[in-house]
Amino acid sequence: MFLGHVAVGLAAKKPSRKPSLGTLLLAVELPNLLWPIFLALGLERVYIVPGFTAVSPLDFVSYPLSHSLLADIGWASLVAGVYYLAKKDDRGAYWIWVCVMSHWILDAISHRPDLPFYPGGQVEVGLGLWNSRPGTILVEGAMLAGGIYLYLRATRPRDTVGDWTFWSLIAVIVVLYLGSMFGPPPPSRRALEAMALGLWLIPAWGYWIDRHRELRL
Ligand SMILES: [Zn+2]
Repeated sequence: MFLGHVAVGLAAKKPSRKPSLGTLLLAVELPNLLWPIFLALGLERVYIVPGFTAVSPLDFVSYPLSHSLLADIGWASLVAGVYYLAKKDDRGAYWIWVCVMSHWILDAISHRPDLPFYPGGQVEVGLGLWNSRPGTILVEGAMLAGGIYLYLRATRPRDTVGDWTFWSLIAVIVVLYLGSMFGPPPPSRRALEAMALGLWLIPAWGYWIDRHRELRL
């Protein structure tokens, strides 16, 4: 999933309160942010197979460190623990943990059965929403709309920057999403890794937005 992860990060702003939108987006995207690093290190593997699913040409052959349930529980606990030690905000730490775990659940809805429960595990899950382009667009589009609605109800811009940074992020991720769905597959694995590393811009953008918005009372 792609837009769905961002939607969860947006929706989590109100209940979590204190964490920056950047931290929440880092949490919901964490497995995808770690994935290109493990690919580059040769610890995880992916094949680009045009038409593999209706939505994505990626055959996730092996990604136990970024995308097994057990590893994601570990990543969630690590990030939430570091946040708690730094901020002493248990509510925020709890929501960061939930945000990281939401990634595995949403991926389990969209991917083919390729998500392991633990590294080396033979049982892999995935409900295969990506086999349907209209179904994927409907679910992810509705989730993003819901996330935007909840985020805008929870926060207000402090200045004009708080408005245009938010809407430009939404515009960019929607264009990238449609481009990945309807455009050509990545030309090589190196190109795919570089594109995936670009996802780090999403949390960075979130920190920028958050500095220019505040919670509504
Ligand atoms: Zn993922």
